[in-house]
Amino acid sequence: MSFNKLGLSTALLKAIQDKGYIKPSEIQKEAIPEILKGNDILAGAQTGTGKTAAFALPILHTLQNAESKRRRVRVLVLVPTRELASQVGESFRDYGSNLRFRTSILYGGVSINTQIDKIKKGVDIVVATPGRLLDHLNQKTLNLFELETFVLDEADRMLDMGFIRDIKKILKYLPEEKQNLLFSATFPNEIKSLADSLLNSPKRIQVKSNNSTADKVEQVVYPVDKSRKRELLAHCIKEENWFQVLVFSRTKHGANKLAQQLNKEGIDADALHGNKSQAQRTRALKDFKDSKTQVLVATDIAARGIDISLLPHVVNFDLPYVPEDYIHRIGRTARAGQEGKAISLVSADEHKLLFDIEKLLKSPIPRETIIGFEPTQNLSTDAPKSRGPSRKKQNSSRTSKKGSPRSKTSWNKRKNKNKASKNNRRS
Ligand code: AMP
Repeated sequence: MSFNKLGLSTALLKAIQDKGYIKPSEIQKEAIPEILKGNDILAGAQTGTGKTAAFALPILHTLQNAESKRRRVRVLVLVPTRELASQVGESFRDYGSNLRFRTSILYGGVSINTQIDKIKKGVDIVVATPGRLLDHLNQKTLNLFELETFVLDEADRMLDMGFIRDIKKILKYLPEEKQNLLFSATFPNEIKSLADSLLNSPKRIQVKSNNSTADKVEQVVYPVDKSRKRELLAHCIKEENWFQVLVFSRTKHGANKLAQQLNKEGIDADALHGNKSQAQRTRALKDFKDSKTQVLVATDIAARGIDISLLPHVVNFDLPYVPEDYIHRIGRTARAGQEGKAISLVSADEHKLLFDIEKLLKSPIPRETIIGFEPTQNLSTDAPKSRGPSRKKQNSSRTSKKGSPRSKTSWNKRKNKNKASKNNRRS
């Protein structure tokens, strides 16, 4: 199926072509026609499925069809994190590059006055995080009386981050009559009841089962002693020449410490977490996307929604306490049909967390023991048995599979290639 069949305007089809999308993803095929019909939507879709375009494209089409000279906020997209707000806002700008709509991105940690100035000039689309949006609503620097479409993105993450009360407050500022679109990777009870109260005879769309992970992510567990995790990570990055590695750490302190230690070992690493200023977070993400930083160590919340095309490696330095977070984490790689690998460094004390994740996945994750890093304590007796061949057996074929192992030169080549293609895009 091609995008032409979905009933989108020529201006949007042109923007889609400029982005290089050839055919719509599953969520786009299902959601775009329903949203164009004006239906409410309850969609089960995780990040990486193309869900942003699935709502942004039909929203822009509808705005264009009923274009009016008077600017007012007609669309509100609520997202859990600043990074996601930036990305979704940029997507609206990209897809709407041939249209005249203005998008405002509102989140905390930056000057509210600059945002107020922009709002005063008139905006059509607002993409916001709950806290800063409430500040604007309370101060009456923004009104949503004439809102036509409301999108609640990553609703389950909103719940995890304690935003549910803020969302309920925000809903009171919205008009009763509007189109409502709710996207969530999972549907815990609180999200189900929020959906019941918000949505009007919604069309239900489920592109992947709640607990499925991106099909193309190759998952593996490296059993290792806790005290040797950092050493193993540095070893893998160097030996296997991993580039653009997103490493998850459970704590902000742990993320900082790990980034510092990797730097000491000569690996370019930076940390991304909620204690950093917005400017630092934006810079860390930009440097990582531009391949200036080889490794980004992030906490779950900060990494939520990060979209980096061709991100080849995600590493769980610590396993998450909430099994669903594992799915969110590994969804950072193998996005939009690319291949990717998710590696979990698991110590014996984490076997219960691993067991819970495998229960959620309904399948065991293959174990590979790295030579020289054999754990002194076995991982688990009650976790499912390993399916994969041991690393010891396949080590030689692994490095020689596609010729010689990647060297630092290939990392530099990749860096330059990325810079070149970025410059091309800019010009
Ligand atoms: P999302 O799930 O919205 O975060 O999108 C994940 C990634 O998929 C983004 O980098 C999009 O630019 C990309 N993408 C979205 N739709 C398509 C498509 N139809 N074909 C190829 N890539 C897409």
